[in-house]
Formats: sequence, structure tokens, C-alpha cells
Amino acid sequence: MGDKTYEEAIEGLKKLLSEKGELKAAAAAKVDQVTAELKTSASGDSVERLKQGFIHFKKEKYEKNPALYAELAKAKAPRYTLQYMYCYNTFSSTKCWSNLLQYMIVACSDSRVCPSHVLDMQPGEAFVVRNVANMVPPYDQIKYAGIGSAVEYAVLHLKVQEIVVIGHSACGGIKGLMSFPFDGTTSTDFIEEWVKIGIHAKKKVLADHASEPLGAQCTHCEKEAVNVSLGNLLSYPFVRNGLANKTLALKGAYYDFVKGTFELWSLNFELSSPLSV
Ligand SMILES: [Zn+2]
Repeated sequence: MGDKTYEEAIEGLKKLLSEKGELKAAAAAKVDQVTAELKTSASGDSVERLKQGFIHFKKEKYEKNPALYAELAKAKAPRYTLQYMYCYNTFSSTKCWSNLLQYMIVACSDSRVCPSHVLDMQPGEAFVVRNVANMVPPYDQIKYAGIGSAVEYAVLHLKVQEIVVIGHSACGGIKGLMSFPFDGTTSTDFIEEWVKIGIHAKKKVLADHASEPLGAQCTHCEKEAVNVSLGNLLSYPFVRNGLANKTLALKGAYYDFVKGTFELWSLNFELSSPLSV
């Protein structure tokens, strides 16, 4: 927000409230509060925001869940920290600990779709990777070592039972995928090359929904790109082994933060039998 716009907004608010005499006292307090909030935001006081955020977390969560954080703190190595899963037995109402981590989650970097927040997960419940448009690229030790190492660690060391790829509404990365021409020209250093991972989703949407407007096509693509990522996961040998041994499952999901809905689906796949010689 620019300074001029900010000052104008405050003046407008004061003027509006001063015209309502009966609201004056409450309004004055509200104006002060809004002004302080806007100032914090407008001045970019990011250190104070982080500080206050941690103070709130510590007071409201850390200190109110001593069992959870004490258990996490006991773990000597990250492996064990991540392997502890907090679970709740609804039948006996007792809390228990398991040494198995249920989920690896792949979600978009978009600040509106934090999976821990949306799925109400506690620390120690999910191994999370976030990137632009929640993409899982195909197995490539050179180009995609970052996410490859995360998948490898989750499957082979944490032994997660499910990998869940979560797409979402109004995804800027998917809009980019649907909008970039991919004709040899580029306008970004990294983004086009990255979202191109979902090019097959774009092609499918353009074929199946050619007459629909871009917004609707983007919604289709947000879901199709999840399926492309699930398909790409099959190119990782340890994922294929997990699926074949039934120790691992793949799931797609779609969080629509406009409608407030969450869809979940399983991947239908067939693993071909090994060739006999
Ligand atoms: Zn997104």
C-alpha cells in the first residue's frame, strides 16, 4: 500500500466515522486500532510481526501442549522428531504416540493454503514440501534434486504411508501454466520452466474444455496438474516399490478456499508385472 493511499484511507475512515456521532467513542478506539495495524503493515515492520507471532504461538500453543512439545524435544535426531505422530484415540479419549509418520504433503507455496493450518495438523504429523503450483516433477537427479531428496527421505527414511498432493483454487502458478505461450520465448528466469512440469495437464484441459473461459480452464487445470504430479511420482523407484508392497498410497486433493471445500481422491494405477525371462 502506498503512503498516499494509506493516508487517504485513514482520512476517509475518520470522516465517515465522525459523521456518525453516536459511534464516536467506540469508533475512535477502532480508528486507533486500525491505524496501528495499517501502520505496521504499511511500514513493513516485519521483525515485530515475526516476534509477536512467535510470542502468540508460544503462549497459546507451545505452553498449552506440553506433552506434544516435550515429546518432540526428546527426539535426538530429526528422523525421530519427524517420525513421531500425535494421534488421538476417540474411543478411550487417551492420547498416544506412534513412531510412524502418516503423511508427506506436497502443497503450493501460496500463503493462503498452508496445509498445517488448513488440515489442523500438529508439529510432527506431516513432512511437507511446498513449491509453486504444488508440482512433483518426474524423477531427475540433476534437475530436480530438491524435491527428489524430499520424496526419497519421506519414503525410505520416514516411511510415510501416504503422499498427498494438494492443489488449490485461484493458483497463480497454474494460471501462469495456462497463460504462458511455451513457444520458445520466455519472460521469467525460472517460473515458466517450473510450471511446464504440468504441461500435460494444460494440454488435456485445452482439449477437453476448449470453449470455456480462462478462469474455468484454470480450475480444471488446478486439479489435472495434481494428477500429473501423482503420475510423476510413479517415476521414482522407491515410490513404485512402496506402492507394489502396499506400504505407500498416493492421494490427490483440492482445497477451494473460495467455497471452503476440500476434495480428496486416490490415484488409480496399475503396476505392470515384471517381465519373465
Ligand atoms: Zn498455488
